[in-house]
Amino acid sequence: MDFLVLFLCYLALVLIGVVMICICSKTHHLKGLVRRGEQVISCIVPECLQRAMQRLLHYLFHSRNHTFIILHVVLQGMVYAEYTWEIFDYCQELEFSLDYLLLPYLLLIVNLVFFTLTCATNPGIITKANELFFLQVYEYDEVMFPKNVRCSSCDLRKPARSKHCSVCNWCVHRFDHHCVWVNNCIGAWNTRYFLIYLLTLTASAASMAIVSTAFLVHLVVVSELYQETYIDDLGRFQVMDTVFLIQYLFLTFPRIVFLLGFVMILSFLLGGYLCFVLYLAATNQTTNEWYRGDWAWCQRCPLVARSPSAEPQVYQNIHSHGLWSNLREIFLPANPHYEKKKKYE
Ligand SMILES: [Zn+2]
Ligand SMILES: [Zn+2]
Repeated sequence: MDFLVLFLCYLALVLIGVVMICICSKTHHLKGLVRRGEQVISCIVPECLQRAMQRLLHYLFHSRNHTFIILHVVLQGMVYAEYTWEIFDYCQELEFSLDYLLLPYLLLIVNLVFFTLTCATNPGIITKANELFFLQVYEYDEVMFPKNVRCSSCDLRKPARSKHCSVCNWCVHRFDHHCVWVNNCIGAWNTRYFLIYLLTLTASAASMAIVSTAFLVHLVVVSELYQETYIDDLGRFQVMDTVFLIQYLFLTFPRIVFLLGFVMILSFLLGGYLCFVLYLAATNQTTNEWYRGDWAWCQRCPLVARSPSAEPQVYQNIHSHGLWSNLREIFLPANPHYEKKKKYE
């Protein structure tokens, strides 16, 4: 079996694993498996090491920290340095259009601006001062968001579509999720920046993949590699086929082919997530509502294990008022300062 088949098998296994985890995370089976795994680990690993691991995991995933921001900048810097070092110089020698080569850098600048805006913008934190305003923004559906509920941690009345973020320890209006990558909650006031951040990140990965592919194709055409022959295991002359060509390029330009593979996988993963986020935006749902709405559906599904006392719930999205209205709500969210200005006009 050659390396290309092995690599594709490995990639398929990783993708199947990710999909299986996503499906299983909605059921009790995975939680039971995780609990059993924890029991086995607690018997093997010494207690002090377990505590250190717990502290590290808590620091990384359950507290606001700068590790992910630094990791993000380092990773992005490494990919761009590799792109500049390997592709940019070669492509300039091959007389590629400069506008085309500079596109990933242009997208990087826009991406960093929106990354900073997503990190630094108030996601819609509910305080005593703005509590009354937020209570009037959305209707209560009485299934997912019942009226007259107080947050047990903030002791504030909970507006519809809000949620208490256990990481940041505050209630957020139109709470979507807590994103460790931007070290902030995604809520009413920064969902628009998060969307553009994700869009430019996907576009910059895709543009790098396109330029790298164009470079390799150009190289094959210029050097007429496809007309070459090679000797196979049985000593016969064979015309260069696609699989052999890819293996040849991998051995000649390992870093470029690896970079291309990485940005291609990244583009597909980010593109998939972007489609999901756009679907949520178009249907006026948050990730929190989608998950909880889906969970209500799961409870009705006979295939999913549930406790006998769990009553099936009927959840209906009452906030969707058409595509443009839903998008306007994200890009022009309700804001007390803006509302005040409108009153004075
Ligand atoms: Zn709260
Ligand atoms: Zn948060």
